[in-house]
Amino acid sequence: MSDYKMLINGQMVAGATATPVLNPATEDAIADCPRASKAQLDQAVAAASAAFPAWSKTSIDERRKVLVAIADVIQANVTELARLLTQEQGKPLQDATGEVFGASAFFRYFASLDLPAKVVTNDATGRIEVRRKPLGVVGCIVPWNFPVMLMAFKVPAALLAGNTVVVKPAPTTPLSSLRLAELIKDLAPPGVINIITDANDLGGAMTAHPDIRKISFTGSTETGKKVMASAADALKRISLELGGNDALIVLDDVDPKETAPKVFGAAMQNAGQVCIAAKRIYVHESIYDAMCDEFATLADNWVVGDGLEQGTQMGPLQNKAQFEKVMGFLDSAKKDGKVIAGGGRKGDKGYFIQPTVVRDIAEGSQLVDEEQFGPVMPVIKYSDPADAVRRANASIYGLGGSIWAKDSDRAWDLAENMESGSVWVNKHADLRPDLPFGGAKFSGIGSELGEEGLKEFTQVQVLNMAR
Ligand code: NAD
Repeated sequence: MSDYKMLINGQMVAGATATPVLNPATEDAIADCPRASKAQLDQAVAAASAAFPAWSKTSIDERRKVLVAIADVIQANVTELARLLTQEQGKPLQDATGEVFGASAFFRYFASLDLPAKVVTNDATGRIEVRRKPLGVVGCIVPWNFPVMLMAFKVPAALLAGNTVVVKPAPTTPLSSLRLAELIKDLAPPGVINIITDANDLGGAMTAHPDIRKISFTGSTETGKKVMASAADALKRISLELGGNDALIVLDDVDPKETAPKVFGAAMQNAGQVCIAAKRIYVHESIYDAMCDEFATLADNWVVGDGLEQGTQMGPLQNKAQFEKVMGFLDSAKKDGKVIAGGGRKGDKGYFIQPTVVRDIAEGSQLVDEEQFGPVMPVIKYSDPADAVRRANASIYGLGGSIWAKDSDRAWDLAENMESGSVWVNKHADLRPDLPFGGAKFSGIGSELGEEGLKEFTQVQVLNMAR
């Protein structure tokens, strides 16, 4: 059992209590994790508040240097961090390595941005500038599916803009964040970065905290609604990156053999626990049987196992609650459609679920209408592409979506009618640090990444002078 500590005011500190973190592949404890008390949350916020005046006055070049230093440290420790991430999250080591590398790239990307004042007028009559000021203390709340990468959506942008942060990872995947905290603790002045871990009990206190000026939240839509309500009292700024139920539409001109593996990968990555996983697969009737057969063959041959084992393509579900939720979806899917691959738990230890393909299923089924967040893909038949887009849009969610076709111009024309924050053609879930990422409808408010994402960590100030 190793000991992990939290980062508060530049110091590694023990939690008020400690509870184990489980490896979802074995259900064995990996380590004890500190759990902060409300008083420790207050200490972290106080440290961030105290550090804010000086940090916000540093030059953007100084802040860039800190981001690059953090990127370097992440990259130098990729092997250790990726292994820890696989152990606590479950994903294959190769994917964990990609996630950690991605996080360092995101820090580096934000270090390349600028927040210049826009000079609107500067003449004999006066001077007018539009500036971007930092907000103050930002609370960053992160879920368990991409703990390292999603932290890197928020922290570098918040810091570059001149804010200080209190970060809270999800209670079931805190260790990679805490190890990272230890590695970077001396790279920024004390109090600029604070990382605390909870027992799923401090999110509400963070969102209601009077001294946190913005909450950058990634998680479920249900929790996002609570964040919004709780932030109202202090009129906090919020960014909400929430759930999704991405539709992926396959047109009639694709080659099933060539397209099916790509679609399958978009649904099964991270065991389906991706906000922008393909969660509803619409396939044209003329190729429906062929595509379903390909999906079933892929599922039967997909290598499911401990992420630390070489060759594993898919790990377990991250936690018991999610495992049970997806098993519930499977029960209902068996009634509403025809399971042609998988369909149950794999083994009797660890939260493994077989990659599952369900055909002859349609809207009205839980598996189609709700976010499964697991390795269970519904394949839905359609005959008219415009109707498929209408059906794809008939969802409360609007995070991502994609259209697949040999004739990519035809797909492009349909794509603009999708009601989602990102729409891809002949690919899915292509995230880049320089592109804003955010959801329509119940999938969120605001965006992260790109210049737009950076601006969300700022307040506009107009300086307007007469001469
Ligand atoms: P969750 O909402 O249960 O938890 C997310 C975080 O919120 C955790 O750190 C949790 O401790 C914290 N939290 C819990 N109660 C809170 C409260 N009352 N106030 C504030 N914070 C609170 O989500 P999850 O189950 O960890 O993550 C899965 C969900 O996240 C899925 O719906 C997925 O689609 C979504 N997600 C969205 C994006 C995106 O960018 N849109 C990315 C990844 C995941």
